[in-house]
Amino acid sequence: MTERAIVNASWVFSPGSGTPPLADASLIIRDGIIREIGPAAEIDTRGLECIDASGLVLIPGLINTHDHFLECLTRALPAGQDVGLMDWLHVHNPIWSRATPEALRSATQIRAAELLLSGCTTTVDHNYLWPNGCRIDDQIEAMQAMGMRFHVARGSVTIGESQGGITPDSVAEDEDSVLADCERAISQYHDPGKGSFLQIILAPCSPYSVSADFMERTAALARREGVRLHTHLAEGADEQAWCLENLGQTPLGHIEDLGWLAEDAWFAHMITLSAPEVIRLGMSGAGVAHCPCSNMRLGNGIAPIQAMLARGVNIGIGVDGAASNDGGGLLAETRQAMLLQRVDQGAAAMTAEQALSMATRGGASILGRDDIGALAPGLCADIAGFRLDALEMAGGAVHDPLAALVFCPPPRADLVIIGGEMRVQKGELIGHDIPAMVARHNTLAKALIAP
Ligand SMILES: [Zn+2]
Repeated sequence: MTERAIVNASWVFSPGSGTPPLADASLIIRDGIIREIGPAAEIDTRGLECIDASGLVLIPGLINTHDHFLECLTRALPAGQDVGLMDWLHVHNPIWSRATPEALRSATQIRAAELLLSGCTTTVDHNYLWPNGCRIDDQIEAMQAMGMRFHVARGSVTIGESQGGITPDSVAEDEDSVLADCERAISQYHDPGKGSFLQIILAPCSPYSVSADFMERTAALARREGVRLHTHLAEGADEQAWCLENLGQTPLGHIEDLGWLAEDAWFAHMITLSAPEVIRLGMSGAGVAHCPCSNMRLGNGIAPIQAMLARGVNIGIGVDGAASNDGGGLLAETRQAMLLQRVDQGAAAMTAEQALSMATRGGASILGRDDIGALAPGLCADIAGFRLDALEMAGGAVHDPLAALVFCPPPRADLVIIGGEMRVQKGELIGHDIPAMVARHNTLAKALIAP
């Protein structure tokens, strides 16, 4: 049994919980679970290893609900800087199709490092190209060294260019082989239990990259195995037009016809929805990964987040891949989520606490987890701490320490704890040499562009 305490935190907040913030608070963690939380003067920490959190505001670890780690090799690529989604895919797909297992492992660790330093403790990745022997196992092995909770989506593309798709034929997979590999990954890795560090998601890339029949077979497999479903949906006008022309349906109508519109599925983007579709989405229990930076970067539009929240849709935040963001800071993404709704709906459209609630409780909800996303006894000890005296929040945190996290430019996390284990201390990632990681990664990124 491991037991330790986090003591004298200046503030402890659990956004969206309805419980008031605690000033000068301490927590006791036993076997990775929060056992007690309360005013420092009332928590008995005698004899325990104590982590000092004075000067910090503590919040639940942030949850990243949509990403493509592989894209970390192709940030800010000149040919992809100023083009919309379909042209952007045409630029990048041939490059990603040259990736190696070593490059995928490096991209996984680079992204994990960036997420951790932004206060993220649980992440999804949705890789859908598996060239040159790349496997989901490469990502899992790389992530185990980073200590994050990992919901790894086994993505797929089964329609290559010769069949009318937008991905080189060399990486279009056979449908039966994909489903067999999904089954293998679930039986080998999926842990559905409380405190899980690894779960498998089934995630065909999008309606325009796999067949309708394959979508249905994937959903059937997921439900037989008790795992969740994920895909891109309603990302922009191009996809909407393609679906209407080729499928005779809107993206949401298509996925609904295939049995995907249900509480065990969540969808990235969800921009081009009609008002009746928002209602159907809300009634279905399905979730949404909101990716504001990517939506702005690619010029796809503004997701109707306020309308979805009003209809009870569960919404999390996702940074999306590094070729369309091009950053992995989840606190920064949360800030953009708040600001972008205000562009569309006015200054009262979203509060700081609502945005932070989406990045914590909302993310946990769409991943089907009731053991993370809040700070309370009985929940996993996944905690992010930010310095109140950070330069970015000078003159701000003194007025409202929670709101300052997203109104001010996002500070780097000073303390990150996952399952009771310290992963970031004094703003530094423990056990990893970031300059060496970046140097190796840059070599791989250059080789990918000019093999
Ligand atoms: Zn994406």
